[in-house]
Amino acid sequence: MQDIDKLAASVLAEGRMEGLPDGHFIGGKYVRGSANAFLESFDPGTAAAFASFSAGTADDVDQAVNSARDAFFTVWRDTAPAERGRILQRASALILENLARLAVVESLDSGKPLQEAIGDVRGAARAFEYYAGACDKLQGDSFPLGSRHFGYSIHEPVGVTAHIIPWNYPISTAARGIAPALAAGCTVVAKPAETTPFTALMLAEILSQAGLPDGVCNVVTGRGAEAGAPLTRHPGVDHITFTGSVATGQRVMQAASVEVTRVLLELGGKSPVIVLDDCDRESALQGVMGAIFENAGQICSAGSRLVIERGIHGDFVAELAKRAESLKIGHGLRRPDFGPVNSALQLERISGFVERTREAGRQIATGGEVCTDPETGKGWFYQPTIIDAAQPDDEVVREEIFGPVLTVQVAEDADHALELANDCQYGLVAGIYTGSFDRAHRLARAIDAGQVFINEYFAGGIEVPFGGNRRSGFGREKGLEGLKSYCKTKSIAARIG
Ligand code: ADP
Repeated sequence: MQDIDKLAASVLAEGRMEGLPDGHFIGGKYVRGSANAFLESFDPGTAAAFASFSAGTADDVDQAVNSARDAFFTVWRDTAPAERGRILQRASALILENLARLAVVESLDSGKPLQEAIGDVRGAARAFEYYAGACDKLQGDSFPLGSRHFGYSIHEPVGVTAHIIPWNYPISTAARGIAPALAAGCTVVAKPAETTPFTALMLAEILSQAGLPDGVCNVVTGRGAEAGAPLTRHPGVDHITFTGSVATGQRVMQAASVEVTRVLLELGGKSPVIVLDDCDRESALQGVMGAIFENAGQICSAGSRLVIERGIHGDFVAELAKRAESLKIGHGLRRPDFGPVNSALQLERISGFVERTREAGRQIATGGEVCTDPETGKGWFYQPTIIDAAQPDDEVVREEIFGPVLTVQVAEDADHALELANDCQYGLVAGIYTGSFDRAHRLARAIDAGQVFINEYFAGGIEVPFGGNRRSGFGREKGLEGLKSYCKTKSIAARIG
């Protein structure tokens, strides 16, 4: 940990970081983009540019897809599953060896507090460890066709997989898609977000050091329209994993329809946290705080709607507001409780939502203003914000804000809480805090969400399948189900007598 803080302090002092890659990673090495054009990456904690990276084009994407196709047919598809597992296991160890640099880059590039970035890097290592162990356990079935026939199934890799990665969890989203894809025998072209390009590149380099053959994992950086869109249209891509906004997800789905390419979409959320009056108050308070203020609320599965029983509402919200006000705000590399948001655009979006709510006469219990790092007066920060007594039709209750803004809705009882929770266009996650086993599981069954957390928001890890319902998307990542997302099942039936 000392190394990490030393590195963080020197990066903070210099305002830049030496040795970051500025090419795409294609065919096992860094290559210059065909346009020789660059974009700048900004430190959200100071709003200053700290490094540049290649602005990818359709030609770069074409080169990366061709490289992934070659590698699929000539080497990776036929690499023994146990050998794939060894490479992924080595990658996991190497990610941990590079923890300090990866975490500092992730914090600098995304803005998130360093301790959260460290958790994300550990999570990425864990994803590779988990799928390393799964490579040689991808078993098929046999079918009872009687004595004259023999039927069985095998799970074949889908081929070249595209991974379009968002800016809120760059390395962990990359890892949770790339690790199972490689485990299944697929090859990869990843496109990180234009505000957080670096850790995906570093991950590809680490995979190469771990022994991954050239061309199996490629990364093209650049803007969505210029580098992302050509990837979603490319006829050489067999599957697309997209994590991002609903609007972009719809574009990806449309583009994929031309070649009938498979898609896995992990889109937005507006996840409810139901707090019933028989809950353990302290764990509910901690859970709700983490659910909305971790990563400044920029989490697709953020618990952004508190639905709370009337009996405890007043005291609970007063205590939440007190805790929100006491969060230490600051530059991510200084390990604050609460960091900046990722971009000026994001800050503007969040601020717009809250201003419209204020104009509509809703009560802002705390926060509600743009702010800066108190130490430097710089950066893109938004105060931890709680909007009390929100109504089901309020824009802030219905739309994903993707920032540190919690709405509070009052429920008369558990059934009313369920009704409010399900009154939503999204269905990604839900949280439940109650001391009653029966109520917890009755609600968990009745809530329309891909995953439900009981008495600990964000419980679980890479073992637990993750994905959305309704406008939150479809398909599942993580767990063994995530591995199957990168496979196509082939059934074979034969007459044997
Ligand atoms: P945001 O609007 O918050 O930036 P997006 O959903 O647009 O979020 O971005 C998520 C990822 O999708 C990023 O890597 C971005 O570059 C990429 N992207 C944006 N537009 C497109 C597009 N038309 N086709 C493919 N990828 C895109």
